[in-house]
Amino acid sequence: MAEIIDGKLLALKVKDKLKSKVVEFKNKYGRDIVLSVVLVGDNPASQVYVRNKLKATEYVGMKSLSFVLPENASENQVAETVKSLAVDKGVDGILVQLPLPKGIDERKILKLIPPEKDVDGFLAENVGKLMLGEETTVACTPFGVLTMLKENNIELSGKNAVVIGRSNIVGKPMAMLLLKENCTVTICHSKTVNLKEMCSNADILIAAIGKPLFVTADMVKPGAVVIDVGINRTEKGIVGDVDFENVKEKVSFISPVPGGVGPMTIAMLLENTYLCALRRENC
Ligand code: NDP
Repeated sequence: MAEIIDGKLLALKVKDKLKSKVVEFKNKYGRDIVLSVVLVGDNPASQVYVRNKLKATEYVGMKSLSFVLPENASENQVAETVKSLAVDKGVDGILVQLPLPKGIDERKILKLIPPEKDVDGFLAENVGKLMLGEETTVACTPFGVLTMLKENNIELSGKNAVVIGRSNIVGKPMAMLLLKENCTVTICHSKTVNLKEMCSNADILIAAIGKPLFVTADMVKPGAVVIDVGINRTEKGIVGDVDFENVKEKVSFISPVPGGVGPMTIAMLLENTYLCALRRENC
């Protein structure tokens, strides 16, 4: 039976450590760390995410600025909001909650964020730095997964890691981070042939697919470490991409949904905001 990786508890640990780093920052630089959040429209899931992010910001002692624009806001209005935050010297991080309403070009909006304020780590400059192994802001979800692995003292070097999913915000940066930790990394996706065979060779298996209970017990290697990134809203509530109940009997570590990667993602957003503030002071 697997050890369950408690993402909620670990996120609290990260946030509590941050609390004292935020106090030190204030004492040293004489100012607050400020995260700005832009929410456009009335997507209920986005509203919950933003509320949780703002709550967490307050918890660690950072300040937040929240900008809520209506569903029918024009691309120009959203762009102007982001542009004003880009030049605001008092703002350390800019988060534009995705998805944006139809008709607004997300890429165009995100490009208005200066790389040094890109707390989500989505911009080409930051992704490129990750590829080059340079210090940068790493997307919050893969950063959270890596922290979960490290905090549980899971050996990574030389291990076979399989990442299911190749999105720009989860799969690809996750693979790069594991490569940096000396894993041998395979990225799988919807066109992968023999997915089951690939997965059953994985010492570390990361599921970031978006399909409820997709990874079943017959796909995993006994003793593997399984991290479930998926968030799927079903009739039975929120479930992950992994058939948790059956897979947990076979593996050594597993993260649950909810209470796994989700809370870690928010904690790493705050860590990223802190790191952005620190870099801005030291550049
Ligand atoms: P995307 O939809 O962008 O990517 C999903 C990936 O899964 C794609 O690369 C796709 O392949 C692959 N895939 C789909 N079907 C299959 C299949 N049958 N076999 C193998 N691979 C498949 O999703 P995201 O990366 O944005 O998110 C993934 C999941 O993680 C979602 O459930 C999302 O809600 C959740 N999530 C959770 C976060 C958290 O904080 N916990 C944060 C971000 C996301 P292809 O590229 O070929 O289409």
